[in-house]
Amino acid sequence: MGNLIALLLHLKRGDRFLAPAQAHVLGSELGTGAWLAGGMPEALPWEGGPGRPAPAQVTRAAGSPGPYYTLRTTLLCLENTHNFAGGTVTPLAEHRALVAAAKAARLAVHLDGARIWHAAAALDLPPATLTEGVDTVQVCLSKGLGAPMGSLLCGSKAAMVEARRLRKMLGGGVRQGGMMGAAGLVALDYLPRIAEDHAKTRRLAEGLRGFGIPAPIPETNILLAPVPNATAALAALEGAGVRALPVGSAIRFIPHRDLTMADIEEALQRIQPLTHLLRGA
Ligand SMILES: *Cc1c(COP(=O)(O)O)cnc(C)c1O
Repeated sequence: MGNLIALLLHLKRGDRFLAPAQAHVLGSELGTGAWLAGGMPEALPWEGGPGRPAPAQVTRAAGSPGPYYTLRTTLLCLENTHNFAGGTVTPLAEHRALVAAAKAARLAVHLDGARIWHAAAALDLPPATLTEGVDTVQVCLSKGLGAPMGSLLCGSKAAMVEARRLRKMLGGGVRQGGMMGAAGLVALDYLPRIAEDHAKTRRLAEGLRGFGIPAPIPETNILLAPVPNATAALAALEGAGVRALPVGSAIRFIPHRDLTMADIEEALQRIQPLTHLLRGA
């Protein structure tokens, strides 16, 4: 709903919006960007690096003004970190260049910062640095931070006045919101420790690589391990008490605040006998 409200704020019916291929706003929001916000999505391939377009693609895709029947492109959506690329980080210089390309083409910019805290921790920068130049940003308290819900939309005061109306129209009005607010504050308490999740994810990847499983070195708290048969691998893992989710032909592990490093070691011990299923030997 956070991303959708941003699209509703930025788009007029029939406007095109750009987003990195496999962005949450393209593939994981049930088409609401088109259905409710009236936008026409355009996925940009990852020419800038995993999970991100290059600034020149934004310039090219935005096009130039033409006759009255020319398609209008009015919004660039970014995602940092990029979930389905495996929690990949857009560095500050690239973020700035993407925003500059969007502004030069008169596009608004919305940042899906569900995991902005992870990007900031990985780059050792304050999160606000990574929102420079954007019109709206959505952040999640409910992922690795552990709140049961809580996607927040941030932007200018005027934009947020309108955003509250849109939230209400979408059925997201809340009266006694204190319980959720309290859970959100507990979630934020974890921020100083968030890099621990990156260390746990790296340890998990190193352990799997030690077993000969071709896991990439993760940038943050998401590990996408390609496996020969995700269904078989997940069933075997479940039997061993290790849970993960399928993402295409890979399986996704996300260490979070409720797991300790000892849990990661325990998981690796349980995974070791299943190694043949995860590397297809
Ligand atoms: C989880 C997530 C969201 C928002 O999810 P809700 O839980 O539906 O609020 C948005 N973007 C990304 C990349 C996410 O992972």
